[in-house]
Amino acid sequence: MRVYTSCVLLAAVAAWSGCAGRAPEFDARPVLATAQTVPMPNANDAADDPAIWVNAANPGQSLVIGTNKQEGLGVYTLDGALLHYYAFGKPNNVDVAYGFPIAGANVDIVATEDRSIFNLRLFAVEPADRSLREIPVTSPRFDFEPYGSGLYKAQDGRFFVFIGSKSGVVRQYLLATKADGSVALELVRMLTMPSQVEGIVADAELGRVYIGEERAGIWRFGANPEDGTTGTLIAPIGAAHPIRRPDLEGLTIYRTGATSGYLIASSQGSNEYVILRRDGENEFVGVFKVTDGPAIGGTEETDGIDVTSAALGTAFPHGLFVAQDGHNQPANQNFKLVPWEAIASQFEPALDLAPRTAE
Ligand code: CA
Ligand code: CA
Ligand code: CA
Ligand code: CA
Repeated sequence: MRVYTSCVLLAAVAAWSGCAGRAPEFDARPVLATAQTVPMPNANDAADDPAIWVNAANPGQSLVIGTNKQEGLGVYTLDGALLHYYAFGKPNNVDVAYGFPIAGANVDIVATEDRSIFNLRLFAVEPADRSLREIPVTSPRFDFEPYGSGLYKAQDGRFFVFIGSKSGVVRQYLLATKADGSVALELVRMLTMPSQVEGIVADAELGRVYIGEERAGIWRFGANPEDGTTGTLIAPIGAAHPIRRPDLEGLTIYRTGATSGYLIASSQGSNEYVILRRDGENEFVGVFKVTDGPAIGGTEETDGIDVTSAALGTAFPHGLFVAQDGHNQPANQNFKLVPWEAIASQFEPALDLAPRTAE
């Protein structure tokens, strides 16, 4: 019996305050994955964070790019097959941005912070064979261990990367392109949270960035360097809150319109995903979890997540949610793929699909 059910029964004869205070609407809706990636080549904690590359020319040929924090990056097709594998270091988080102008072309970029070199690694997606080509980053080694990262393409065309750290400081760098096809990082702002941060996602249209302080909750800041350094804790962690237990890990955004959609967080300590509204004051929407199905297991102790609202062929017509699976025994860790409509349909009323359904 779930805790909240016990509380409901108790509430009939005792004060509600006698319970832990967790409201029934925080109960997680069960969802099944429909695909999973080839397991990591390494045992123990290896998989961390996914990023989805949307192939605009051929959406069914889009990619899931996942970090192996012991070795490098795996590039997977939408049925979970391994297409390319790059062993180069210790990447932690990974993110994708589109239309980065460099050396006379616009390329889609993949960014990951590499703890083996204390620097950012950048790649361009080669559409022809969906491989990753490394773009040299010429900046010197960070004087801190990078931990967590996210890309941000501003409305004015500037590209930034946010890099987190175990001290709680997030640094924002401008990606400055050089004529020789390399990129330099120019520090433009520092945001300070009280303790270790990791998950970072930027909302380009709303000019916001969300940062996960692992043991405290989700912070919201303006995404531009000119936006100051004062943040708002929009979703604290605690027994009475949707994010029940630390760590808070991945953050991602499902877009249903120019400014509408959902902000989703991985609540690692409770094996759940918490959905907030993307706009306004990020009101609570609901909680879901990925449970064991007949063919594909659920997700537990999830690190990173990613979601897209782009239609990715027949398998994911309303978009795709990807979550790291911390417990995939007897196989090694991997990533699970869930169609968005499988999540949306678990709520009443159902969550919006993209493009946004009629008002
Ligand atoms: Ca990611
Ligand atoms: Ca973490
Ligand atoms: Ca699992
Ligand atoms: Ca992580």
